[in-house]
Amino acid sequence: MADSLLSDAARQLERALKYASVSEDTIESLKFPKASLTVSIPVRMDDGSLKVFQGYRVRYDDARGPGKGGVRYHPNVSLDEVQSLSFWMTFKCAALNLPFGGAKGGITVNPKALSRLELERLSRGYIDAIADFIGPDVDILAPDVYTNAMVMGWMMDQYSTIKRQISLGVVTGKPIAMGGSLGRETATAMGAFYVIEAILPKFDRVPQNTTVAIQGFGNAGGTLAALLFRAGYKVVAVSDSQGGIYAKNGLDIPSVRQFKDSTRAMKAVYCEGTVCNIVDHEVLTNPELLALDVDILIPAALEKQITEVNAHEVNAKLIFEVANGPITSAADPILEAKGIYVFPDILINAGGVTVSYFEWVQNRSGMYWTIEEVNQSLRRKMIDEAEQIWTIAHTHSIPMRTAAYVHALNRLGEATPYG
Ligand code: GLU
Repeated sequence: MADSLLSDAARQLERALKYASVSEDTIESLKFPKASLTVSIPVRMDDGSLKVFQGYRVRYDDARGPGKGGVRYHPNVSLDEVQSLSFWMTFKCAALNLPFGGAKGGITVNPKALSRLELERLSRGYIDAIADFIGPDVDILAPDVYTNAMVMGWMMDQYSTIKRQISLGVVTGKPIAMGGSLGRETATAMGAFYVIEAILPKFDRVPQNTTVAIQGFGNAGGTLAALLFRAGYKVVAVSDSQGGIYAKNGLDIPSVRQFKDSTRAMKAVYCEGTVCNIVDHEVLTNPELLALDVDILIPAALEKQITEVNAHEVNAKLIFEVANGPITSAADPILEAKGIYVFPDILINAGGVTVSYFEWVQNRSGMYWTIEEVNQSLRRKMIDEAEQIWTIAHTHSIPMRTAAYVHALNRLGEATPYG
């Protein structure tokens, strides 16, 4: 039987156990998700037919606070995937010292095949099905792959309707007009950018002579590409689920984004006159992108992109994981042996949940922050925790991933005796 994603995720934790000061109780209590809910969501389709979708919400651990994590809409969503994602959320929130446990949700669906009204009925139906399982002090939702502020708005509204009171704090990543936070939409990319900027000098590099390849051009990957381009990095390759493009001297990222936004397909930039004329670029596949000889590789799409099968082909010097779980536990030692430095997901993509935390705080206090306040607080938090993880890695001569788990475990261990 194929190894589950969750057991593979747990293997990342095993490497950290001997460096963390935690009791057997903590380790035992983190072995399984605390609660897993599977629901069937009936949705009336536009043609009058009824269709039932499978949905999940998993709370992995809440020793440090209410569960926190996004909701993913994707055809490959499964209970195993949602459990793994909730596991990573647990360690992400602890690594960043956010007062949350870890949770995650998902619906097995191709949202691109639904109309807007079908998507709304599905999102509201999901909340009808899980309403007793979530809450502002129990488990808080947020966006993830193929969900956005609009979907979060419907979800918060539906929950408030069920509870007969406005419950802003049950969902983060909401539209600004409905209690959302400034800076939440760009937060994942911003957080990754701040850490990359802080790390780069440690490797004696400057943006101008640093080449970057990014897999995934959604909210996180696309925004990060733009931030790096603006800061002077040479972004030589980007891709989406259809494929990618490469230009030796760097792509013109604002043009690529404009085409992607107007056509919804990266493929469109291949042959559209103007961009083809601006940059001289080649077409490449996702596996080819991962094997490029670049200074920085950024997987920003889905899990299990670098495995024991293709890890040998990776040629980057540094990898920053913006996706959750893009590198399997079997691939990690192969990359390590090649001298490739991996900066792990539970640190690098934590900007999203960090600003979700700021949003939740703003909802509870009723005082709203400026974009400067959000970004300054995000920057401080990301760099501070990254430095602490860097110190742990260098004290024990262990990879950054293991160090991030040690850092998170120490905090989880402090909370366990009271839970
Ligand atoms: N889905 C994002 C993640 O994987 C954000 C979660 C949140 O904001 O709660 O970290």
